[in-house]
Amino acid sequence: MSSSPLFAPELAELAQAHLLRQRREVSPLLPPADLLPDQEHVRGTTYLINGQSRLSFGSNDYLGLSQHPALILAAQQAAARYGVGATASPSVCGHSPSHEALELELAAMVGLPRAVSFVSGYMANVGVIPALVGRGDAVFSDALNHACLIDGARLSRADVQVVPHGDLAALDAALQASTARRKLVLTDAVFSMDGNIADIPALLALCERHDAWLMVDDAHGFGVLGEHGEGTLAHWGIAGRGGIQPGWQGRLHRLIYMATLGKAAGVAGAFVAGEPTLVDWLVQRARTYMFATAAPAMLTEAVRAGLRVIQEEGGRREHLAQLRHRLRTGLKLQPAWRLLPSETAIQPLIIGSNADALAVMDHLDRQGLWVPAIRPPTVPSGTARLRISLSAAHTLEHVDALCKALSEAV
Ligand SMILES: *Cc1c(COP(=O)(O)O)cnc(C)c1O
Repeated sequence: MSSSPLFAPELAELAQAHLLRQRREVSPLLPPADLLPDQEHVRGTTYLINGQSRLSFGSNDYLGLSQHPALILAAQQAAARYGVGATASPSVCGHSPSHEALELELAAMVGLPRAVSFVSGYMANVGVIPALVGRGDAVFSDALNHACLIDGARLSRADVQVVPHGDLAALDAALQASTARRKLVLTDAVFSMDGNIADIPALLALCERHDAWLMVDDAHGFGVLGEHGEGTLAHWGIAGRGGIQPGWQGRLHRLIYMATLGKAAGVAGAFVAGEPTLVDWLVQRARTYMFATAAPAMLTEAVRAGLRVIQEEGGRREHLAQLRHRLRTGLKLQPAWRLLPSETAIQPLIIGSNADALAVMDHLDRQGLWVPAIRPPTVPSGTARLRISLSAAHTLEHVDALCKALSEAV
Protein backbone atom coordinates (compact mmCIF):
# COMPACT_ATOMS: atom_id res chain seq x y z
CA MET A 1 0.00 0.00 0.00
CA SER A 2 1.24 3.47 -0.88
CA SER A 3 1.81 5.79 2.05
CA SER A 4 1.31 9.01 0.06
CA PRO A 5 -1.50 11.31 1.19
CA LEU A 6 -4.88 10.71 -0.44
CA PHE A 7 -4.87 11.68 -4.15
CA ALA A 8 -1.44 13.36 -3.97
CA PRO A 9 -0.16 11.58 -7.14
CA GLU A 10 -3.39 12.32 -9.01
CA LEU A 11 -3.23 16.00 -8.06
CA ALA A 12 0.41 16.20 -9.13
CA GLU A 13 -0.56 14.72 -12.48
CA LEU A 14 -3.27 17.35 -12.99
CA ALA A 15 -0.81 20.12 -12.13
CA GLN A 16 1.70 18.67 -14.61
CA ALA A 17 -0.94 18.75 -17.40
CA HIS A 18 -1.92 22.36 -16.56
CA LEU A 19 -5.34 21.05 -15.54
CA LEU A 20 -5.42 22.00 -11.88
CA ARG A 21 -8.43 24.21 -11.12
CA GLN A 22 -7.77 26.96 -8.65
CA ARG A 23 -10.44 28.87 -6.84
CA ARG A 24 -9.99 32.56 -6.22
CA GLU A 25 -11.64 34.64 -3.55
CA VAL A 26 -13.91 37.08 -5.35
CA SER A 27 -16.00 39.97 -4.05
CA PRO A 28 -17.34 43.23 -5.51
CA LEU A 29 -14.65 45.94 -5.45
CA LEU A 30 -17.10 48.25 -3.68
CA PRO A 31 -20.31 47.29 -1.86
CA PRO A 32 -23.10 47.69 -4.45
CA ALA A 33 -25.33 49.51 -1.99
CA ASP A 34 -22.70 52.23 -1.34
CA LEU A 35 -21.83 53.18 -4.91
CA LEU A 36 -21.74 56.89 -5.72
CA PRO A 37 -23.06 58.00 -9.13
CA ASP A 38 -19.53 58.31 -10.57
CA GLN A 39 -18.65 54.79 -9.42
CA GLU A 40 -21.51 52.99 -11.19
CA HIS A 41 -19.16 51.50 -13.83
CA VAL A 42 -17.73 49.11 -11.20
CA ARG A 43 -21.17 47.62 -10.41
CA GLY A 44 -21.17 44.00 -11.60
CA THR A 45 -17.91 44.46 -13.51
CA THR A 46 -15.05 45.14 -11.12
CA TYR A 47 -14.12 42.69 -8.41
CA LEU A 48 -11.48 42.06 -5.81
CA ILE A 49 -9.96 38.77 -6.92
CA ASN A 50 -7.54 37.37 -4.36
CA GLY A 51 -7.26 40.92 -3.04
CA GLN A 52 -6.48 42.54 -6.43
CA SER A 53 -8.87 44.79 -8.36
CA ARG A 54 -9.85 43.22 -11.69
CA LEU A 55 -12.27 44.04 -14.49
CA SER A 56 -14.12 40.76 -14.95
CA PHE A 57 -15.24 39.05 -18.16
CA GLY A 58 -15.80 35.80 -16.34
CA SER A 59 -19.28 35.86 -14.87
CA ASN A 60 -22.57 34.65 -16.33
CA ASP A 61 -24.23 37.82 -15.02
CA TYR A 62 -25.17 38.68 -18.61
CA LEU A 63 -27.59 41.48 -17.79
CA GLY A 64 -25.74 42.79 -14.75
CA LEU A 65 -28.61 41.93 -12.39
CA SER A 66 -26.63 40.28 -9.59
CA GLN A 67 -26.03 43.70 -8.02
CA HIS A 68 -29.17 45.48 -9.23
CA PRO A 69 -30.71 47.62 -6.45
CA ALA A 70 -34.26 46.31 -7.09
CA LEU A 71 -33.15 42.69 -6.66
CA ILE A 72 -31.13 43.45 -3.53
CA LEU A 73 -34.10 45.29 -2.02
CA ALA A 74 -36.47 42.42 -2.88
CA ALA A 75 -34.16 39.94 -1.13
CA GLN A 76 -33.90 42.14 1.95
CA GLN A 77 -37.65 42.65 2.19
CA ALA A 78 -38.33 38.96 1.68
CA ALA A 79 -35.87 38.02 4.43
CA ALA A 80 -37.71 40.41 6.73
CA ARG A 81 -41.09 38.93 5.77
CA TYR A 82 -40.35 35.19 5.36
CA GLY A 83 -37.12 34.67 7.31
CA VAL A 84 -34.00 33.35 5.61
CA GLY A 85 -34.80 29.65 5.17
CA ALA A 86 -37.63 27.76 3.44
CA THR A 87 -37.39 25.10 6.22
CA ALA A 88 -38.49 22.05 4.19
CA SER A 89 -39.01 20.54 0.76
CA PRO A 90 -41.84 22.00 -1.35
CA SER A 91 -44.28 19.14 -0.72
CA VAL A 92 -43.82 19.34 3.07
CA CYS A 93 -43.96 23.06 3.87
CA GLY A 94 -41.31 24.80 1.75
CA HIS A 95 -43.59 26.11 -1.01
CA SER A 96 -44.45 29.74 -0.17
CA PRO A 97 -46.76 32.26 -1.88
CA SER A 98 -43.57 33.66 -3.40
CA HIS A 99 -42.71 30.28 -5.00
CA GLU A 100 -46.26 29.98 -6.31
CA ALA A 101 -46.22 33.50 -7.80
CA LEU A 102 -42.77 32.95 -9.30
CA GLU A 103 -43.89 29.78 -11.09
CA LEU A 104 -46.93 31.56 -12.57
CA GLU A 105 -44.75 34.47 -13.72
CA LEU A 106 -42.14 32.17 -15.27
CA ALA A 107 -44.78 30.22 -17.21
CA ALA A 108 -46.39 33.47 -18.47
CA MET A 109 -43.00 34.84 -19.51
CA VAL A 110 -41.89 31.84 -21.58
CA GLY A 111 -45.44 31.36 -22.89
CA LEU A 112 -45.89 27.74 -21.77
CA PRO A 113 -48.82 26.46 -19.68
CA ARG A 114 -47.06 25.74 -16.36
CA ALA A 115 -43.68 25.91 -14.61
CA VAL A 116 -42.04 24.41 -11.53
CA SER A 117 -38.98 25.89 -9.83
CA PHE A 118 -35.86 24.08 -8.67
CA VAL A 119 -33.03 25.10 -6.32
CA SER A 120 -30.46 25.04 -9.12
CA GLY A 121 -30.06 24.09 -12.74
CA TYR A 122 -27.87 21.13 -11.89
CA MET A 123 -30.54 19.83 -9.54
CA ALA A 124 -33.24 20.38 -12.16
CA ASN A 125 -31.49 18.35 -14.84
CA VAL A 126 -30.39 15.46 -12.65
CA GLY A 127 -33.90 15.26 -11.20
CA VAL A 128 -36.00 15.80 -14.31
CA ILE A 129 -34.35 13.39 -16.76
CA PRO A 130 -34.74 10.31 -14.50
CA ALA A 131 -38.37 11.34 -13.93
CA LEU A 132 -38.97 11.27 -17.70
CA VAL A 133 -37.13 8.14 -18.81
CA GLY A 134 -35.75 4.93 -17.31
CA ARG A 135 -34.41 1.47 -18.18
CA GLY A 136 -35.30 0.45 -21.72
CA ASP A 137 -35.82 4.04 -22.87
CA ALA A 138 -33.41 5.95 -25.09
CA VAL A 139 -31.72 9.33 -24.61
CA PHE A 140 -30.06 11.20 -27.50
CA SER A 141 -27.61 13.78 -26.22
CA ASP A 142 -25.65 16.42 -28.17
CA ALA A 143 -21.90 15.95 -27.76
CA LEU A 144 -21.45 19.46 -26.32
CA ASN A 145 -24.26 19.27 -23.76
CA HIS A 146 -23.63 20.57 -20.26
CA ALA A 147 -22.34 18.17 -17.61
CA CYS A 148 -25.61 18.10 -15.69
CA LEU A 149 -27.61 16.92 -18.72
CA ILE A 150 -25.04 14.13 -19.09
CA ASP A 151 -25.30 13.23 -15.41
CA GLY A 152 -29.10 13.31 -15.50
CA ALA A 153 -29.07 10.95 -18.48
CA ARG A 154 -26.71 8.56 -16.68
CA LEU A 155 -28.80 8.62 -13.52
CA SER A 156 -31.92 7.74 -15.52
CA ARG A 157 -30.43 4.34 -16.53
CA ALA A 158 -31.82 4.88 -20.03
CA ASP A 159 -29.66 3.91 -22.98
CA VAL A 160 -27.63 7.05 -23.87
CA GLN A 161 -26.45 7.86 -27.38
CA VAL A 162 -24.16 10.84 -27.85
CA VAL A 163 -24.89 12.60 -31.14
CA PRO A 164 -22.18 14.71 -32.87
CA HIS A 165 -22.68 18.39 -32.06
CA GLY A 166 -25.53 19.97 -34.05
CA ASP A 167 -25.68 17.04 -36.49
CA LEU A 168 -29.37 16.81 -37.39
CA ALA A 169 -28.83 14.04 -39.95
CA ALA A 170 -27.04 11.88 -37.37
CA LEU A 171 -29.82 12.53 -34.87
CA ASP A 172 -32.45 11.66 -37.48
CA ALA A 173 -30.69 8.36 -38.20
CA ALA A 174 -30.26 7.51 -34.51
CA LEU A 175 -33.94 8.21 -33.77
CA GLN A 176 -34.99 6.19 -36.82
CA ALA A 177 -32.90 3.20 -35.71
CA SER A 178 -34.17 3.25 -32.12
CA THR A 179 -36.85 0.79 -31.05
CA ALA A 180 -37.08 2.22 -27.54
CA ARG A 181 -40.51 2.81 -26.03
CA ARG A 182 -39.63 6.38 -25.07
CA LYS A 183 -37.12 8.59 -26.82
CA LEU A 184 -35.79 11.78 -25.26
CA VAL A 185 -33.56 14.27 -27.08
CA LEU A 186 -31.42 16.52 -24.87
CA THR A 187 -29.84 19.78 -25.95
CA ASP A 188 -28.37 22.97 -24.60
CA ALA A 189 -30.29 25.84 -26.22
CA VAL A 190 -27.17 28.03 -26.15
CA PHE A 191 -24.00 25.96 -25.84
CA SER A 192 -22.22 27.14 -22.73
CA MET A 193 -18.62 27.06 -23.97
CA ASP A 194 -19.28 27.97 -27.63
CA GLY A 195 -22.14 30.47 -27.45
CA ASN A 196 -23.99 29.10 -30.51
CA ILE A 197 -27.76 28.57 -30.56
CA ALA A 198 -29.34 25.15 -31.15
CA ASP A 199 -31.80 24.87 -34.06
CA ILE A 200 -34.86 24.25 -31.91
CA PRO A 201 -37.45 24.28 -34.75
CA ALA A 202 -35.49 21.61 -36.62
CA LEU A 203 -35.06 19.55 -33.45
CA LEU A 204 -38.79 19.79 -32.69
CA ALA A 205 -39.63 18.72 -36.23
CA LEU A 206 -37.34 15.68 -35.91
CA CYS A 207 -38.93 14.80 -32.58
CA GLU A 208 -42.39 15.03 -34.16
CA ARG A 209 -41.33 12.74 -36.99
CA HIS A 210 -39.94 10.10 -34.60
CA ASP A 211 -42.38 10.57 -31.72
CA ALA A 212 -39.62 11.70 -29.35
CA TRP A 213 -39.57 14.28 -26.55
CA LEU A 214 -37.27 17.29 -26.61
CA MET A 215 -35.67 18.73 -23.48
CA VAL A 216 -34.02 22.10 -23.97
CA ASP A 217 -31.62 23.61 -21.41
CA ASP A 218 -31.74 27.39 -21.85
CA ALA A 219 -29.31 28.35 -19.07
CA HIS A 220 -27.54 30.86 -21.36
CA GLY A 221 -30.47 32.07 -23.49
CA PHE A 222 -33.07 32.94 -20.84
CA GLY A 223 -32.94 36.70 -20.20
CA VAL A 224 -30.59 37.31 -23.12
CA LEU A 225 -32.49 36.14 -26.22
CA GLY A 226 -35.98 37.12 -27.35
CA GLU A 227 -37.45 40.61 -27.56
CA HIS A 228 -38.39 40.60 -23.86
CA GLY A 229 -35.64 38.23 -22.72
CA GLU A 230 -37.96 35.22 -22.77
CA GLY A 231 -35.12 33.09 -24.10
CA THR A 232 -34.38 30.79 -27.00
CA LEU A 233 -38.01 29.79 -27.73
CA ALA A 234 -38.82 33.46 -28.36
CA HIS A 235 -35.62 33.84 -30.41
CA TRP A 236 -37.02 31.18 -32.76
CA GLY A 237 -40.58 32.58 -32.71
CA ILE A 238 -41.96 29.50 -30.97
CA ALA A 239 -43.32 30.92 -27.70
CA GLY A 240 -42.85 33.92 -25.46
CA ARG A 241 -44.79 36.55 -23.52
CA GLY A 242 -47.54 36.41 -26.14
CA GLY A 243 -47.97 32.67 -25.55
CA ILE A 244 -47.42 29.92 -28.09
CA GLN A 245 -46.99 31.47 -31.53
CA PRO A 246 -49.10 30.64 -34.60
CA GLY A 247 -47.78 27.54 -36.30
CA TRP A 248 -46.62 26.05 -32.98
CA GLN A 249 -49.97 25.71 -31.24
CA GLY A 250 -50.74 22.08 -30.43
CA ARG A 251 -47.13 21.13 -31.23
CA LEU A 252 -45.33 21.77 -27.95
CA HIS A 253 -46.69 18.89 -25.86
CA ARG A 254 -43.41 17.02 -26.49
CA LEU A 255 -41.27 19.97 -25.27
CA ILE A 256 -39.64 20.11 -21.84
CA TYR A 257 -38.18 23.60 -21.40
CA MET A 258 -35.65 24.23 -18.65
CA ALA A 259 -33.77 27.43 -17.78
CA THR A 260 -31.66 28.65 -14.90
CA LEU A 261 -32.02 31.73 -12.72
CA GLY A 262 -28.42 32.21 -11.56
CA LYS A 263 -27.07 33.57 -14.85
CA ALA A 264 -28.85 36.38 -16.72
CA ALA A 265 -31.58 36.41 -14.05
CA GLY A 266 -28.85 37.30 -11.56
CA VAL A 267 -29.89 35.22 -8.53
CA ALA A 268 -30.02 31.40 -8.21
CA GLY A 269 -32.33 28.53 -9.09
CA ALA A 270 -33.95 27.06 -12.18
CA PHE A 271 -37.31 26.07 -13.58
CA VAL A 272 -38.92 23.62 -15.95
CA ALA A 273 -41.90 24.63 -18.07
CA GLY A 274 -44.30 22.72 -20.28
CA GLU A 275 -47.64 20.94 -20.19
CA PRO A 276 -49.60 20.99 -16.89
CA THR A 277 -49.30 17.19 -16.65
CA LEU A 278 -45.51 17.41 -17.09
CA VAL A 279 -45.26 19.80 -14.14
CA ASP A 280 -47.63 17.67 -12.03
CA TRP A 281 -45.51 14.60 -12.81
CA LEU A 282 -42.24 16.33 -11.88
CA VAL A 283 -43.70 17.36 -8.53
CA GLN A 284 -44.47 13.64 -7.96
CA ARG A 285 -41.28 12.13 -9.37
CA ALA A 286 -38.30 14.50 -9.70
CA ARG A 287 -36.26 13.42 -6.70
CA THR A 288 -34.19 16.60 -6.51
CA TYR A 289 -37.46 18.52 -6.22
CA MET A 290 -39.11 16.18 -3.73
CA PHE A 291 -36.20 15.59 -1.38
CA ALA A 292 -34.41 18.93 -1.30
CA THR A 293 -35.19 21.96 0.85
CA ALA A 294 -36.93 24.62 -1.22
CA ALA A 295 -35.10 27.83 -2.14
CA PRO A 296 -35.42 30.57 0.47
CA ALA A 297 -38.12 33.13 -0.43
CA MET A 298 -35.46 35.86 -0.36
CA LEU A 299 -34.10 34.21 -3.51
CA THR A 300 -37.46 33.66 -5.21
CA GLU A 301 -38.47 37.27 -4.47
CA ALA A 302 -35.17 38.54 -5.87
CA VAL A 303 -35.81 36.45 -9.00
CA ARG A 304 -39.32 37.92 -9.33
CA ALA A 305 -37.82 41.43 -9.19
CA GLY A 306 -35.27 40.27 -11.77
CA LEU A 307 -37.97 39.02 -14.13
CA ARG A 308 -39.51 42.49 -14.12
CA VAL A 309 -36.16 44.11 -14.95
CA ILE A 310 -35.47 41.55 -17.69
CA GLN A 311 -38.79 42.29 -19.39
CA GLU A 312 -38.97 46.04 -18.79
CA GLU A 313 -35.37 47.12 -19.36
CA GLY A 314 -34.89 46.02 -22.96
CA GLY A 315 -32.06 48.57 -23.19
CA ARG A 316 -29.86 46.07 -21.34
CA ARG A 317 -30.11 43.60 -24.22
CA GLU A 318 -29.50 46.39 -26.76
CA HIS A 319 -26.39 47.48 -24.87
CA LEU A 320 -25.18 43.87 -24.75
CA ALA A 321 -25.51 43.70 -28.56
CA GLN A 322 -23.43 46.90 -28.86
CA LEU A 323 -20.72 45.46 -26.62
CA ARG A 324 -20.67 42.28 -28.69
CA HIS A 325 -20.27 44.29 -31.90
CA ARG A 326 -17.49 46.37 -30.34
CA LEU A 327 -15.60 43.24 -29.27
CA ARG A 328 -16.00 41.44 -32.58
CA THR A 329 -14.88 44.43 -34.63
CA GLY A 330 -12.18 45.62 -32.21
CA LEU A 331 -10.22 42.40 -31.61
CA LYS A 332 -6.95 42.03 -33.50
CA LEU A 333 -6.48 38.29 -33.55
CA GLN A 334 -3.25 36.29 -33.69
CA PRO A 335 -3.29 33.94 -36.73
CA ALA A 336 -3.61 30.84 -34.54
CA TRP A 337 -6.56 32.21 -32.55
CA ARG A 338 -10.20 31.97 -33.51
CA LEU A 339 -13.20 33.89 -32.18
CA LEU A 340 -16.19 31.56 -32.48
CA PRO A 341 -19.30 32.95 -34.22
CA SER A 342 -21.79 33.77 -31.46
CA GLU A 343 -24.91 35.94 -31.20
CA THR A 344 -24.98 35.60 -27.44
CA ALA A 345 -23.09 37.05 -24.48
CA ILE A 346 -20.62 34.16 -24.62
CA GLN A 347 -17.71 35.06 -26.92
CA PRO A 348 -15.17 32.24 -26.90
CA LEU A 349 -11.64 32.86 -28.17
CA ILE A 350 -10.00 29.55 -29.06
CA ILE A 351 -6.28 29.54 -28.20
CA GLY A 352 -5.41 25.82 -28.56
CA SER A 353 -3.08 24.35 -25.94
CA ASN A 354 -3.80 24.44 -22.22
CA ALA A 355 -0.47 26.13 -21.48
CA ASP A 356 -1.03 28.88 -24.09
CA ALA A 357 -4.55 29.58 -22.86
CA LEU A 358 -3.22 29.91 -19.32
CA ALA A 359 -0.39 32.18 -20.51
CA VAL A 360 -2.84 34.55 -22.24
CA MET A 361 -5.07 34.51 -19.16
CA ASP A 362 -2.02 35.44 -17.02
CA HIS A 363 -1.10 38.25 -19.42
CA LEU A 364 -4.62 39.69 -19.14
CA ASP A 365 -4.51 39.26 -15.39
CA ARG A 366 -1.37 41.43 -15.22
CA GLN A 367 -3.29 44.10 -17.19
CA GLY A 368 -6.04 44.04 -14.55
CA LEU A 369 -8.47 41.90 -16.57
CA TRP A 370 -10.05 38.66 -15.48
CA VAL A 371 -11.00 36.29 -18.33
CA PRO A 372 -11.15 32.61 -17.45
CA ALA A 373 -9.28 30.01 -19.50
CA ILE A 374 -11.46 26.96 -20.11
CA ARG A 375 -9.63 23.67 -20.52
CA PRO A 376 -10.49 20.00 -21.00
CA PRO A 377 -12.51 18.16 -19.88
CA THR A 378 -14.90 21.13 -20.01
CA VAL A 379 -14.00 21.59 -23.71
CA PRO A 380 -12.48 19.14 -26.24
CA SER A 381 -8.73 18.64 -25.96
CA GLY A 382 -6.71 21.08 -28.12
CA THR A 383 -9.45 23.75 -27.97
CA ALA A 384 -8.52 25.44 -24.71
CA ARG A 385 -10.03 28.89 -24.85
CA LEU A 386 -10.70 32.17 -23.16
CA ARG A 387 -14.40 32.31 -22.45
CA ILE A 388 -15.08 36.02 -22.77
CA SER A 389 -18.40 36.67 -21.18
CA LEU A 390 -20.04 40.04 -21.77
CA SER A 391 -22.47 41.69 -19.39
CA ALA A 392 -24.83 44.61 -19.88
CA ALA A 393 -22.99 46.08 -16.87
CA HIS A 394 -19.85 46.53 -19.02
CA THR A 395 -19.17 49.83 -20.78
CA LEU A 396 -17.79 50.19 -24.30
CA GLU A 397 -14.53 51.39 -22.67
CA HIS A 398 -14.32 48.12 -20.73
CA VAL A 399 -14.49 46.17 -24.00
CA ASP A 400 -11.90 48.46 -25.59
CA ALA A 401 -9.53 47.74 -22.69
CA LEU A 402 -9.96 44.00 -23.27
CA CYS A 403 -9.33 44.33 -27.03
CA LYS A 404 -6.19 46.38 -26.39
CA ALA A 405 -4.76 43.94 -23.84
CA LEU A 406 -5.49 40.96 -26.13
CA SER A 407 -3.82 42.62 -29.11
CA GLU A 408 -0.68 43.04 -27.00
CA ALA A 409 -0.63 39.41 -25.83
CA VAL A 410 2.00 37.25 -27.48
C1 LIG B 1 -24.84 26.62 -15.45
C2 LIG B 1 -25.58 25.58 -16.20
C3 LIG B 1 -26.41 24.67 -15.55
C4 LIG B 1 -26.46 24.58 -14.06
O1 LIG B 1 -27.22 25.56 -13.50
P1 LIG B 1 -26.97 25.98 -11.98
O2 LIG B 1 -28.17 26.76 -11.64
O3 LIG B 1 -25.72 26.78 -11.98
O4 LIG B 1 -26.84 24.73 -11.20
C5 LIG B 1 -27.18 23.84 -16.31
N1 LIG B 1 -27.12 23.84 -17.66
C6 LIG B 1 -26.29 24.67 -18.32
C7 LIG B 1 -26.25 24.63 -19.81
C8 LIG B 1 -25.49 25.55 -17.61
O5 LIG B 1 -24.65 26.36 -18.25
